[in-house]
Amino acid sequence: MRIDILTLFPEMCERFTGESIIGRAQAKGVLEIKCHNIRDYTVDRQKRVDDAVFGGGMGMLMQVQPIIDCFDAVCQQTGKRPHLIYMSPQGKVLTQQRVKELAQLDSFAILCGHYEGVDERVIESIVDEEISIGDFVLTGGEMPALILADAVSRLCDGVLSGEECYTDESHYNGLLEYPQYSRPADFRGMKVPEVLLSGHHANIDKWRREQSLKRTYEKRPDMLEKAELTASDLKFIESLKREKEDKKTVTSE
Ligand code: SAM
Repeated sequence: MRIDILTLFPEMCERFTGESIIGRAQAKGVLEIKCHNIRDYTVDRQKRVDDAVFGGGMGMLMQVQPIIDCFDAVCQQTGKRPHLIYMSPQGKVLTQQRVKELAQLDSFAILCGHYEGVDERVIESIVDEEISIGDFVLTGGEMPALILADAVSRLCDGVLSGEECYTDESHYNGLLEYPQYSRPADFRGMKVPEVLLSGHHANIDKWRREQSLKRTYEKRPDMLEKAELTASDLKFIESLKREKEDKKTVTSE
């Protein structure tokens, strides 16, 4: 997987992509994240990349020329035109499903906006998709780009030690992950559930599935509507609902 990030702040991105799991994956050669400084492509003598907005208003806008020339250079370097994602609060909100789909690509590129964003002609001419990381506004697209790059990278072969590292995790299969514990088994009287120490794998799997359903029911019941559930999952959820109703009755008595 190759990810090209087009930004005015490449050092900010490289500081993150060179570290930890993503940094090690790049050192192993299973992932390549290249940051490109849009400013290197401006034809302005003063190296300006932004200007005032036509029609008036506050703030500066990233100009069309340096961005398009930067993207052309990326296309030349990679020998193809990568799918270009513009990180934007106006895009579709990122989901694990979209992350999974992007992880199937060989490469893609991410454009980070700054200031008031980018000249609309950039979006019209080279952007394939706009992605938001949530319904709020940040000062720049660098953190959103790193969030997207991180989420996609960890699903690529060889980045984590195995598929199980992410298939059990929250959102992958439409549920939240079950609770997890590590040593010691008893910390100041707070004990790890007995079943996890039993070594009985079928019972552990059953407990984990039920805990996953319970957590999702309690924290994100909206997710259960879309999750793929078996007959026994549905039965278990019904028991959770009954338990909740019973508790309500006891407290109101
Ligand atoms: N004027 C723009 C608007 O109202 O839609 C907001 C521009 S914002 C201050 C500057 C840049 O930060 C954007 O171009 C985008 O790249 C990034 N950004 C801000 N919030 C974001 C979000 N929720 N998701 C993804 N990118 C975001």
